[in-house]
Amino acid sequence: FQSARRGNDSVKKGPVIAIDGPGGVGKSSVSKRVAEALGFKYINTGAMYRAFGLAAKASYVDFKDDLNLQDYCRDIDINYSTDTGRITIDGVDYTDNIGSDRAGELASKVATQPSVRACLSACQRMMGEEGHVVMEGRDIGTVIFPDADVKIYLDAAHEVRAERRKDELEKNGIEPSRVSDILEARDKRDASRQAAPLKQADDAVHIDTSSLTLDEVVKKVVQIINERLNVGNTGR
Ligand code: C5P
Repeated sequence: FQSARRGNDSVKKGPVIAIDGPGGVGKSSVSKRVAEALGFKYINTGAMYRAFGLAAKASYVDFKDDLNLQDYCRDIDINYSTDTGRITIDGVDYTDNIGSDRAGELASKVATQPSVRACLSACQRMMGEEGHVVMEGRDIGTVIFPDADVKIYLDAAHEVRAERRKDELEKNGIEPSRVSDILEARDKRDASRQAAPLKQADDAVHIDTSSLTLDEVVKKVVQIINERLNVGNTGR
């Protein structure tokens, strides 16, 4: 779809699960598995910011100039397939390049700009409003779907997250370097920005995953979702 330019209202037609948390916590692995378990669609909004950052850089857009970014946003065509997880912007497929630290860095820089957030938020609401979706990011439970049916906030100690990020980079064939520092800088930028900073929604379930395995986190999250969705269905 053409990047949507609509208002902030979401009109969801089915259950939306919001999973937020800082970098390296394992949101993508958990969210993907949870979506599979529930038979829901999985949407990785961080991947959208990463692809956007790479595309804007390739087009020599000045990241510090919000007007310049606004112009860029007006014309781009973002395509995210929830079936394949592939993301193209203006016909260029960025999927294989979004895993790097460079992509993460560009994403977190561009994500501070209100015009970029407005553009990607509108796409994300449009993608999620059909429901039966697990959407992960930084602001899903606070800004994108404040009326999400279940909100989960995943957290873990910094050293644990740095270790997980290192493993993830290695798995993607990327040599990890200065992982802990990069993660810390990115977390700081994400949490201190004016526009939609990373923070836990008041009604989110906080899970400290520091001492849990991936299987354990997935099991816990699926259990919470099933309990909450069932309570909603029986009207209790
Ligand atoms: O989750 P991931 O590490 O892929 O996200 C990359 C960057 O994109 C984050 O550091 C953050 O700055 C930005 N982001 C965001 N809002 C989201 C998802 C990601 O600002 N919903």
